[in-house]
Amino acid sequence: MVDLPKIIPLSEQIRRRNFLKGAGAMMAGMAGCNSKDPFTTEAKKEQVQPSGEMVKLLSTTGEIIEVDKAYLKPTEEIPSITHMAERMGIEGKKFVMVIDLSRCRNLKKCQEACNHAHFVSDHQNWIKVYPIQDAENTSPFWQPTTCMHCDDPPCVKVCPVDATFKRVDGIVGIDADRCIGCRFCMAACPYSTRVFNWDQPIVPPEVMELQYSSETSCPPKIGTVSKCDFCPDMARKGELPHCVTACPNGVFFFGDLYEDTVTNGSETVRFSELIRDRSGYRLMEDLGTKPSVYYLPPVDRLFPFKNEDKDEAKPELHS
Ligand code: SF4
Repeated sequence: MVDLPKIIPLSEQIRRRNFLKGAGAMMAGMAGCNSKDPFTTEAKKEQVQPSGEMVKLLSTTGEIIEVDKAYLKPTEEIPSITHMAERMGIEGKKFVMVIDLSRCRNLKKCQEACNHAHFVSDHQNWIKVYPIQDAENTSPFWQPTTCMHCDDPPCVKVCPVDATFKRVDGIVGIDADRCIGCRFCMAACPYSTRVFNWDQPIVPPEVMELQYSSETSCPPKIGTVSKCDFCPDMARKGELPHCVTACPNGVFFFGDLYEDTVTNGSETVRFSELIRDRSGYRLMEDLGTKPSVYYLPPVDRLFPFKNEDKDEAKPELHS
């Protein structure tokens, strides 16, 4: 069994950064004291008894200082992951998603959760929910769309700077540090899933300070392309993508093709049986893109189609 490199979740990164900032300020203060043992206050002495064993540390100002070992506080191990590991993906996994169209009633909880997690603004949604109608005499239905994480992705082939890439676990990622905003990938994607960040994303300052990670797609950057990333940071932790857990109707199933298992958080089923028994299909199969996202047709629907949003587009006729 392969030991997976860990990634620090965004919230944890912020917490730790704030912690490190505090530690850095403390160290700077210590160096400013220009003392061999900076922990000389009565309060500190009361808290911990010195051991007499001194250790050398490099201060934030580049000075070597000596500190009694008793004053060193063990910190949690801070796991890290390299950009190369992010681009490689998780070995031994092949992620797939199944979207059950019979359960979707356009609540857009998936979209809300996705936008919240990735600092996506309303007009830049990575998950779009389209009203679709197969024929004039059939009832419309709601179709959520994500990036299809194609196994033969046209977007990856056209990128001139290798900013978008296919990982071993099937995820198609974007490195915003490399992206030059040419938008060739947007033109190449037959599913119109990519969005261009025309505006400065609205992101808390502490998130903007973080190093970019293609696993969290944060911090987002103006002038670059972004899209659904299948939440690989959640997969590293063994958790489901945000859209999956946010949907109250269990529309999204996510899992591993190699394990032949998908789950929506409350139901766990065999992927192959679900696709076979419910006539699963992929969008625009004839293009040969080999999407990792499958759909279950909107038969035996849980909800009648109801378009409560007056601004919503008319159902698209597919026939
Ligand atoms: Fe690329 Fe579009 Fe396929 Fe996603 S859906 S992998 S963006 S071609």
